[in-house]
Amino acid sequence: MADFRPGTPDQEEFLRELLGAGYLIESGVPGVYGRGEAFERVRLGFDAKVTAASEEESPEHMVFPPLLPRRQMEDVGYLQSFPHLACTVFSFDGDEEQAAEQEHRAAAHEDWSDFQEMTDLVLKPAACYPVYPAIAARGPLAPGGVLVDAGGTYVFRHEPSGDPARLQAFHQREIVRIGEPETVVEWRNRWRDRSLELLRSVGLDAVPDVASDPFFGRSGRLLARSQRAQELKFEVLVQIAGPEPTAVASFNYHQDHFSAVYGLEMAADDGGDTTAHTACLGFGLERITLALVRTHGLDQEGWPAAVLAELGI
Ligand code: ZN
Repeated sequence: MADFRPGTPDQEEFLRELLGAGYLIESGVPGVYGRGEAFERVRLGFDAKVTAASEEESPEHMVFPPLLPRRQMEDVGYLQSFPHLACTVFSFDGDEEQAAEQEHRAAAHEDWSDFQEMTDLVLKPAACYPVYPAIAARGPLAPGGVLVDAGGTYVFRHEPSGDPARLQAFHQREIVRIGEPETVVEWRNRWRDRSLELLRSVGLDAVPDVASDPFFGRSGRLLARSQRAQELKFEVLVQIAGPEPTAVASFNYHQDHFSAVYGLEMAADDGGDTTAHTACLGFGLERITLALVRTHGLDQEGWPAAVLAELGI
């Protein structure tokens, strides 16, 4: 069981305010909340702004379920980098007697995991993961590559916390670029700048930063250092309720990581196909919503008219 990380007093107070004002709805499990109407208006308003901003690039739209084939999580090395965050799906596999014993234990809220077997599914940890094998299955890419808007789907991280900005289930609004290395890097950098404009247009004090992923263990610290040194990951930070600003968007250049797994290639006239590179960007829609509530206040009707107009509220 992952350790519960209590929030700071500020974070715990902000969480109580969000629950009290109906933005979030308690489930009994830290980091898992329902969303009230006021919350959803803002989240969907910002989601629509991202869609509008990306439309000029004519992305291909793809929608995937919140479940991921377990095989994909295994292939991309997620369990090496983030074993502490992975959420897996198990299901009952047994006879009637075992079903009765499982029910008996479950009714008493005792451990019934003896009767559960691993399934072919895990919970999706990142919205972009299903995109890479789907594109690879088409064969080598034409010059210029592809751009995929993977929508704003639920993703899952097992990290129970009292910080309302650290959720176990949240919407990641992802767009994926696959193509020549220079095309991909140029796109990633352009979107980092564009995201600052988007976030500032709704009154958020957003700043960019070079970042690294929360890789697991000692070898993970080395990976994180090299990721920073090569500037493979940028984040955009906004002050929410943390002592430090919180990342609300990230811009990741994977080089050939996913291409090596799935065989993503650029077609060449002479038949000498070259490896495609990939990048993705993700907006954390819940964190952006929380940042907006923190910045403009719990009373949404009192938000600046220009901000409400930007969000289509
Ligand atoms: Zn991604």
